[in-house]
Amino acid sequence: MTDKLSQSADKVLDHYTLFRQPEYAAMFEKKKTEFEYGHSDEEVARVSEWTKSEDYKAKNFAREAVVINPTKACQPIGAMFAAQGFEGTLPFVHGSQGCVAYYRTHLTRHFKEPNSAVSSSMTEDAAVFGGLNNMIDGLANAYALYKPKMIAVMTTCMAEVIGDDLQGFIANAKNKDSVPADFPVPYAHTPAFVGSHIVGYDNMIKGILTNFWGTSENFDTPKTEQINLIPGFDGFAVGNNRELKRIAGEFGVKLQILSDVSDNFDTPMDGEYRMYDGGTTIEETKEALHAKATISMQEYNTTQTLQFCKEKGQDVAKFNYPMGVTGTDELLLKLAELSGKPVPASLKLERGRLVDAIADSHTHMHGKRFAVYGDPDFCLGMTRFLLELGAEPVHILSTSGSKKWEKQVKKLLDGSPFGASGAAHGGKDLWHLRSLIFTDKVDYIIGNSYGKYLERDTKVPLIRLTYPIFDRHHHHRYPTWGYQGALNVLVRILDRIFEDIDANTNIVGQTDYSFDLIR
Ligand code: SF4
Repeated sequence: MTDKLSQSADKVLDHYTLFRQPEYAAMFEKKKTEFEYGHSDEEVARVSEWTKSEDYKAKNFAREAVVINPTKACQPIGAMFAAQGFEGTLPFVHGSQGCVAYYRTHLTRHFKEPNSAVSSSMTEDAAVFGGLNNMIDGLANAYALYKPKMIAVMTTCMAEVIGDDLQGFIANAKNKDSVPADFPVPYAHTPAFVGSHIVGYDNMIKGILTNFWGTSENFDTPKTEQINLIPGFDGFAVGNNRELKRIAGEFGVKLQILSDVSDNFDTPMDGEYRMYDGGTTIEETKEALHAKATISMQEYNTTQTLQFCKEKGQDVAKFNYPMGVTGTDELLLKLAELSGKPVPASLKLERGRLVDAIADSHTHMHGKRFAVYGDPDFCLGMTRFLLELGAEPVHILSTSGSKKWEKQVKKLLDGSPFGASGAAHGGKDLWHLRSLIFTDKVDYIIGNSYGKYLERDTKVPLIRLTYPIFDRHHHHRYPTWGYQGALNVLVRILDRIFEDIDANTNIVGQTDYSFDLIR
């Protein structure tokens, strides 16, 4: 270590500069040689090369006992996200505190917003004797301190492993006056060791609707002209939910979003801290029972909830993250069918402009090969849009993807000449995708921030179009749904393609004959 340090109070360096300074370089080298005792650089390089081979891919795909970088998170984070779309609602996670810190930071890192949630902070004694006392004290504290209009309860692994009964615990807590007897405390069991965040989302929405709509089937409830819409777990919810409301306004349709997080995850900086902002109100949630229909934007996020809506006598319709021209057409036609109103001229104009933009850029999209990963619905919507653009989705991968989902992807691929080289990989993870990309190269990867490690490894450029996006800012404020949203997605893909072409043609006197001003 050198005597003189590179950093002082007057000269503070960012970490990526600081750790390249001589004293840190020497420290890292010492750590490596004296403490890590790793394999030689040659051996690391040899194994690294082997992991890119067909031989390794076969072993990788035979793997059963371990999952490496799955494209999913655990149930409670989805439940928390769903709860935060209701007005004044405080998510209350029954279980361990560390889990809740993880959900909060995950959402905060994506939306760049503070994220409020509490936990019952179960520790060893609660794990042995049950968490009833944690629930009683926790609900009382949360109600008194944070003044919510509703507390939505979900669980972590710990509470589920010991089998805590939320319904009984909440009733007990109300008997002990933790919260008033008529205060809404919907709940959902969200065991994190099965399903994923999209199942947790479904469980929580159903839990909240059950709280206000009742458990028994009642097909004969009087119906209004209103249409409910459930967005599902969506990292672009701020832009998308606002776009959906704009579309409904153009249409003149009374559209009620159930779980609208768009304001809660986009609070203004005007001197007032908003612990809760916007969201579906309790009155709107109650009234939504009488809607004539409920639409889900993401089938795999709402399996149980849509069944529940059906049992209440509502028509239901489901989409798979509808993006692009055809996806938006189908959504608008469904709104027209359900409302009896024609698709407005203003939206038809937007459609024409999108088609024009696609035609303008089709030469750059045509034949480009893509890997797509993420939630099942996102993969379906993205694959469909790529096919529409003349691009070729090759590897489509979702850890939460089922056999049914694989068939849906295959049907999409079979319906287009651009789908000939594509295949769906349900239940697989990003380490599988790495093998796929090394053995069957693509031009671009579409996914989330976790794909940056794949990008570094495979040298295939990444386009961030789904949750979570931690290392880029503000994309979630722009819609990806509707014709305007499709245009945003198209621009994001094209920008990456053009950056790539520029980077590959910028050597003066060697490759710059293609470093064109006009693309
Ligand atoms: S998987 Fe279980 S332990 Fe891990 S964060 Fe989720 S609830 Fe907590």
